[in-house]
Amino acid sequence: MSSLFLDQTYLFTPGPTPIPNKINAAMARPMIGHRSPDFSVLIEDVATRLEPVFGTKHPVMILTSSGTSALEAAVVNTIHEGDHAIVIVAGSFGDRLATIAENYGASVHRLNVEWGKSCTPEMLEAFIDELGDTPIKAVFGTFNETSTGVLNPIHALGQVVKTKTDALFIVDGVSCIGAVPVDMENDHVDILVTSSQKALMLPPGLAFAAFSDRGLQAIRECPERRFYLDLKRYVDTYEKQKSTPFTPAVSLIQGAQAVCDMIEEEGWENVIKRHLLLRDMLRAGIRELGLPLLTSEEDASPTVTAVKPEGIAAPAIQKALKKDFAITIAGGQKDLKGKIFRIGHMGYCTPFDVLKVLSALEMTLAKFGQAPHFGAAVKKAEEVYVKNV
Ligand code: PLP
Repeated sequence: MSSLFLDQTYLFTPGPTPIPNKINAAMARPMIGHRSPDFSVLIEDVATRLEPVFGTKHPVMILTSSGTSALEAAVVNTIHEGDHAIVIVAGSFGDRLATIAENYGASVHRLNVEWGKSCTPEMLEAFIDELGDTPIKAVFGTFNETSTGVLNPIHALGQVVKTKTDALFIVDGVSCIGAVPVDMENDHVDILVTSSQKALMLPPGLAFAAFSDRGLQAIRECPERRFYLDLKRYVDTYEKQKSTPFTPAVSLIQGAQAVCDMIEEEGWENVIKRHLLLRDMLRAGIRELGLPLLTSEEDASPTVTAVKPEGIAAPAIQKALKKDFAITIAGGQKDLKGKIFRIGHMGYCTPFDVLKVLSALEMTLAKFGQAPHFGAAVKKAEEVYVKNV
């Protein structure tokens, strides 16, 4: 018998994520010109209906490129050669953010945090104190460190930035925006970016940038004019023409309209609650299997969970899930390569999806000779579900 049945596949990576049928259908709508009135209606609808998801009162700008472009845009529209910037590095995406800022000539102060742990406000405060009178132009942080499955306490970090510096707080929200609450003014986040292929349930190809009042002012006042990544150009074109400066991925923006419909139908508060439930179900099940979780309860991400197995190599589990069940999960990155596996549970993911991956894990552990836990993890996750729903 073939190890795979039919042609069903199950995507549990922390991006890209599965695409709902409604969104696929919206993306298949007839093409429209990006300088047409129809497009103006579309982009205004999407840019404003995404505001609550980004916790901003300004329309959300859309770039046709991946999330890294919006991170790079956030850097080039705020930082000038020689400016001092603090970058919180608690995993491979924090490391990437630091590299982008360094590549543009910033004097980067890396606040290194042990991978698998969050950056606490106390750590940031002590780090800023150590820098003394150094004028800090921006503090960069990763909201959800995808490489470790850690959600950083963005509100508390924002308060430290606010009270201790005049710096902008620029946040990479790539693997959690669309799943977690945020309030840019209240959290003191000035620029917040994400990409389409994560909790927003779209294919890869769009990057989003949202601004606080201060963030918007900073990009308007940026003395150097960039080109494709000139955020002021996006804001100006939106304000004057309700369009984008360059030809956008129109189909993906049509899909983004369906994303807004789906989020509103479920209710934004319910979307947030569902992600917490998925996290809690998965972690309860994994614990029941005796598999060590990389992160503490306090730091645990609602969108991706990292597991550090003992006795069986993480890549072997990843391979077996793929071969036997057509389940795709992710491995570790950089320092954690080969040591962990990561399960994404964001966007188009339901409690029943969590049961599927736990059930497959039970059978996989048995295959590797670990004492069978048939049904135990699924039962625990079901108990969490029943208690919460
Ligand atoms: N930042 C984080 C936290 C991510 O998870 C990712 C992608 O996984 C990126 C940045 C890069 O985004 P993209 O691949 O869309 O350029």
